[in-house]
Amino acid sequence: MAISSSFNFLFAFLLALLSTHSSATFISITNRLSQCLNNYADPSFPISGLLYTPGNSSYPSILQAYIRNPRFNETTTNKPILIITASHASHIQAAVVCATTQRLLMKTRSGGHDFEGLSYVSYMNQPFFIVDVFNLRSINISIEHETAWVQAGATLGELYYGIAEKSNTHAFPAGVCPTVGVGGHLSGGGYGNLMRKYGLSVDNIVDAQLIDVNGRLLNRKSMGEDLFWAITGGGGVSFGVVLAYKIKLVRVPTVVTVFNIQRTSEQELSTLAHQWLQVADKLDNNVFFRMRLGLVNNTDGQRQFVLIFHQCT
Ligand SMILES: Cc1cc2nc3c(=O)[nH]c(=O)nc-3n(C[C@H](O)[C@H](O)[C@H](O)COP(=O)(O)OP(=O)(O)OC[C@H]3O[C@@H](n4cnc5c(N)ncnc54)[C@H](O)[C@@H]3O)c2cc1C
Repeated sequence: MAISSSFNFLFAFLLALLSTHSSATFISITNRLSQCLNNYADPSFPISGLLYTPGNSSYPSILQAYIRNPRFNETTTNKPILIITASHASHIQAAVVCATTQRLLMKTRSGGHDFEGLSYVSYMNQPFFIVDVFNLRSINISIEHETAWVQAGATLGELYYGIAEKSNTHAFPAGVCPTVGVGGHLSGGGYGNLMRKYGLSVDNIVDAQLIDVNGRLLNRKSMGEDLFWAITGGGGVSFGVVLAYKIKLVRVPTVVTVFNIQRTSEQELSTLAHQWLQVADKLDNNVFFRMRLGLVNNTDGQRQFVLIFHQCT
């Protein structure tokens, strides 16, 4: 008993020592990173007011604002040592340079809808920081040229709304969830209700602004076609930080017909799914006919499968 309690005391003491040591290490890494960012940032666009460390009272709300999957919002989830809420390209350039010189893992977050939380979680338990681009969300639309420049921090909903404010005959082919971010969505593909007629989001991107691994601000011409191809489908974060995309708007009719039908598991779901498979790809390209599997509570309060058919014309 005496040996066991001495052992427990020693273990607790060692743990306390280790955690004090690791917090001290984290603080010194964070201080070095802040110093580096302040040194490298363009003095015309100060960065100090945009840095949030765990000691800052706004840190939890800034971190959680774009955690879209509560599974990664636990006290045990590995947290960033610092968040930069970039509001200018030079802030991202400083972040990229400092990540390299300080040998630190940098995460880039736009809408925070990554299924695995990759934009704000580190699975290797190593210190990391986040460049959050939610301040960079401007949308400049030219109906005359049928194009728009949209910054990475804008959401799809903001983009759709912005286009609808200017025209009721234009749209952009992208996803169905309005809070998904442009940065992650457009760099990775982007499918939605207009895909049968106009393809994916990436089929409708004509230019981009990217900060590459050396901190250079590039456009399509200066980055070259290979890199442009990579950041329009290959996932932007493997190649740099996307600041903005220039997109091609597509034409849509002023009136669109939409309906949803639900069928529950008592209604031969496999037969219905089979029938959907026979027709969905043979319809006119102006018709989008989607089927998805969901779960609902039946009248007895039990969970059951449901097939949801969604059509847009
Ligand atoms: C509820 C929900 C609905 C969805 N619906 C659809 C849909 O209808 N159609 C569809 O195609 N997809 C859909 N998706 C998938 C979604 O498009 C991807 O998860 C997308 O990557 C999310 O982008 P984000 O900016 O919101 O996420 P984030 O978590 O911010 O980023 C996702 C990834 O992109 C990287 N990234 C983010 N910003 C940048 C940037 N500026 N430069 C470089 N890399 C960056 C991140 O580091 C991360 O690896 C959905 C996802 C969810 C959770």
